[in-house]
Amino acid sequence: MRNIVVFIDQPGSALGKAGKELLTFARGLGAPVAAVAGELSEAVRAELGEYGVAQVLNSNQAELFEYSIVPKAEFLAVAAQRVDAQLVLTGNSAEHKEIAARLAVLLDAGVISDAVGVVADADAGIQVEKLVLAGSYTVSASVRSAIGIVALKANGVEPEAAGSSSAAAVETVEVPFSELALRARIASRQARPASGRPELSEARIVVAGGRGVDGDFGPVEELADLLGAAVGASRAATDAGWIDHSAQVGQTGKTVSPQLYISVGISGAIQQKAGMQTSKFIVAVNQDAESPVFEIADLGIVGDLFTVLPQAIEEIKRR
Ligand code: FAD
Repeated sequence: MRNIVVFIDQPGSALGKAGKELLTFARGLGAPVAAVAGELSEAVRAELGEYGVAQVLNSNQAELFEYSIVPKAEFLAVAAQRVDAQLVLTGNSAEHKEIAARLAVLLDAGVISDAVGVVADADAGIQVEKLVLAGSYTVSASVRSAIGIVALKANGVEPEAAGSSSAAAVETVEVPFSELALRARIASRQARPASGRPELSEARIVVAGGRGVDGDFGPVEELADLLGAAVGASRAATDAGWIDHSAQVGQTGKTVSPQLYISVGISGAIQQKAGMQTSKFIVAVNQDAESPVFEIADLGIVGDLFTVLPQAIEEIKRR
């Protein structure tokens, strides 16, 4: 395969898990070129080398931070053309899916989101496995344009550094932003107080609470912290104001696909399942044995969460 451009968005002082996953994935297909939007620190440059990147295209133009979405698509278009890329990989967040779509328009390329796998085939072009209907089916799709844009879901691969590391060569890219790119400016940013927990859509483990917690997320949060997990919630719990809306998992919330999803006091309505049924292993705690959540659970515990969770917490602490 020709070059694969991997989008690394505002990495700050360290390459995040999402970027490491994309690079690990890309290495399995060919030579990854990192397109880094934002400041490139020495630490991140070294990490890129460790993850098998020999070439970095970097733009630290203020527009990439100050304006919304379009400048990033235009940066990636310049980067992809610079290295004659065959494939551009982005993350699968709402923002990155929009960037991927706009990039596809700029490059007259095929775009596929919600991807869980990519194989390059000399005859058929880029073949992609993707999830549809909220993860109920996996379908194969292919990109037949000269360049393909693929938004890859988190947690598809375990991040793994390349065997040997080399210093990545850095080339600065100056993007001639269009007038369209500068129409939507970010007026202000408000950082959420750091919870110390992993980001929900990237976390390897999620502990989610529903109406069953009855306003008390204490046991859910304690279990999550013991496991190094993110805290999720059903819409009933976020609507009740027991936890921030950013924790909502489901059709109108976040889509997660962790290794382990622990569902606590959640009935498993179709709109909740839409956001979590592709989790690798699902544990459900619910006092109603007829609850639909047990239809998709790998391990079901019928019981009162205020009895089950403290027991689990005590046992984990004991080990
Ligand atoms: P309930 O359905 O009330 O279930 C609570 C569960 O807790 C029950 O199964 C009960 O047996 C159990 N329970 C109670 N007490 C205990 C206890 N002490 N110990 C153990 N178990 C206990 N929902 C989402 O989650 N995410 C979405 O993104 C979403 N989007 C939606 C979009 C639309 C357009 C619509 C119409 C709905 C959407 N919903 C969404 C809402 C969804 O339909 C359900 O109403 C919601 O998921 C129910 O949340 P819940 O399971 O926490 O509550």
